Amino acid sequence: MPHHPVSFALHGGAGDMPQRDHGYAEHLAALQAIGTQVQSALQDGLPALDAVEMGVRLLEDCEHFNAGRGAVLNTLGEAELDASIMGGDGACGAVAATRRPRNPVTLARALLNDGRHVMLAGAHADAACERLGISMAEPEYFIIEDRQRQLERARAHATVMLDHDEPLGTVGAVARDRHGRLAAATSTGGMTNKAAGRVGDTGVIGAGTWANDQTCAISTTGHGESFIRVNAAAQIHWRMSLGHEPMHAAAELVIQQVVDCGGMGGLIGVDRDGLVCLPMSTLGMFRAWSELDAPVRSAVFR
Ligand code: ASP
Repeated sequence: MPHHPVSFALHGGAGDMPQRDHGYAEHLAALQAIGTQVQSALQDGLPALDAVEMGVRLLEDCEHFNAGRGAVLNTLGEAELDASIMGGDGACGAVAATRRPRNPVTLARALLNDGRHVMLAGAHADAACERLGISMAEPEYFIIEDRQRQLERARAHATVMLDHDEPLGTVGAVARDRHGRLAAATSTGGMTNKAAGRVGDTGVIGAGTWANDQTCAISTTGHGESFIRVNAAAQIHWRMSLGHEPMHAAAELVIQQVVDCGGMGGLIGVDRDGLVCLPMSTLGMFRAWSELDAPVRSAVFR
């Protein structure tokens, strides 16, 4: 049985978060604990695709992050959730502007398994939960008080806010398993005070999520419109595959393109050799990672 050392990374959102006395201890503790669970599951032989779904589910369930419960709210005060997942064999699934799956990444995974369609959106995606046996929640389940206050502040300033002034963020996971297979998954509530129906990079395969066993697995976070414009996650794969660039160089270049088109953010990547990259244009990105079976580390600032 092949016995590759395993690697993974998780993110909990990128942004220009302020320095805080407590140093975001709760977020780091959550990332470190979830990272430790993901690592030991990978070491026990869990496939990369299951590991990234598991990591993102745990982050969705954690109120500290902008995905699942605790997601940011749109102009109507609703949580509209985007998520996507992809395996290194090219199988993928995505959901956009959903309001009912308790774990949007698991609905995306069910679409991947089902194999007929890559992406479902809105009320029809919600309705598919029952057919696919995905557990649902009332729309109120996702809404927490902090997010309602954040929406009030965004409304007062008439802006669409990234999560960057708050200690919270979009979530994602990338992994390489014992067989050397890669996978990536990402999940979000998007941006505070976004238009109802707006879909960001997180729901778009190629922009927010990409995996290919020959190159890399990528999950992004930041200003979604910019990541869509530069086809961020897939572009890193193509640069590696056609341009023979190493992942970290391709990833830095793509982050620069995001900045050049007026955006900001970061990403996590793991390549076929199990190397991890964590580039960002922001002051910080909540993250936990391990390269080649090394102990799990976590960090907030650059
Ligand atoms: N990329 C997400 C979006 O634009 C937001 C984030 O990463 O925090 O929907």
